[in-house]
Amino acid sequence: MQVLKLGDRYGRVATDLRVSLTDRCNLRCSYCMPAEGLDWLPQDETLTDDELVRLIRIGVERLGIQEIRFTGGEPLVRRGLPDLVRRVREIDADIDMSMTTNALGLARTAQALADAGLNRVNVSLDTVRADTFHAITRRDRLDDVISGLAAAEAAGLGPVKVNAVLMRGLNDDQAPELLRWCLDRGYELRFIEQMPLDAQHGWQRDGMVTADEIFAHLEREFTLSPASEPRGSAPAELFLVDGGPATVGVIASVTRPFCGDCDRVRLTADGQIRNCLFARHESDLRAALRDGTSDAEIAERWVTAVAGKAAGHGIDDEGFLQPDRPMSAIGG
Ligand code: SAM
Repeated sequence: MQVLKLGDRYGRVATDLRVSLTDRCNLRCSYCMPAEGLDWLPQDETLTDDELVRLIRIGVERLGIQEIRFTGGEPLVRRGLPDLVRRVREIDADIDMSMTTNALGLARTAQALADAGLNRVNVSLDTVRADTFHAITRRDRLDDVISGLAAAEAAGLGPVKVNAVLMRGLNDDQAPELLRWCLDRGYELRFIEQMPLDAQHGWQRDGMVTADEIFAHLEREFTLSPASEPRGSAPAELFLVDGGPATVGVIASVTRPFCGDCDRVRLTADGQIRNCLFARHESDLRAALRDGTSDAEIAERWVTAVAGKAAGHGIDDEGFLQPDRPMSAIGG
């Protein structure tokens, strides 16, 4: 079988596939979704497990995909997730398979997911204070996230990483507290700059907490020094905390973009290929899956889709337009 590359005209090759399993979520984080939720994708537009497994197989066997990360929406709300994980693991015993999750319900499923072949999880947690958790997510589920994290660690889904978004006036003063909490439990914390991807289109550059501010908050209590390991295509810039070996990461997508090293390609829950969170163009593979197109032809369409990847996300370009799909419908 001929193996193609998902290359673009800037010399980047996509090997990391982010797969959104659903656009639905059981939290309502204010930087992501309105309180009332969104109009969810109709069931018949969402890829079935068979369709997902077929596309992932094409990606791995014909297009050089080496990493799969399940995301959403909230991937744990997809029924039968351990079985899907097992089927993807059967495609390739060595592929790196991880999941980004809010951890609600993870306490129940972590072991089954690990047994099915999932390697790691990234858990989103912006605060360890119950009142702030409710203010951000509009739900009282902090204890469930904490027990989900512990279950992931116990099931061997590590190193467990924690993703946090800081919001001005809500939790921006809690960065050192969250880092201390993660260090005490051996979780690797990474702060993500808030991006213009909320469904409400309420993001404002002067309202977001920048990487520089995050460093300033952390350096009130910790000494940070650049980690020596090469960053490669990783979104997070890593820093040793108090000389190491523990690290903290900052994903500064807005103020320190890293598009030149991007190796990611995204598959939405309704079967669209996106080259970037901020892309305004998608390539439809669901139609190809459903009209009898061969695996070889689907692989070629995927190659064509990635070849057109833009040089950068363009947030700073004059005339930047936020994508129509919010983060939850793209897969963060
Ligand atoms: N529900 C899962 C979770 O909570 O991890 C997966 C999907 S969620 C969209 C993935 C990540 O995107 C989370 O860490 C979340 O905090 C982050 N996120 C959502 N909206 C964001 C925004 N506007 N800017 C930056 N990060 C955002």
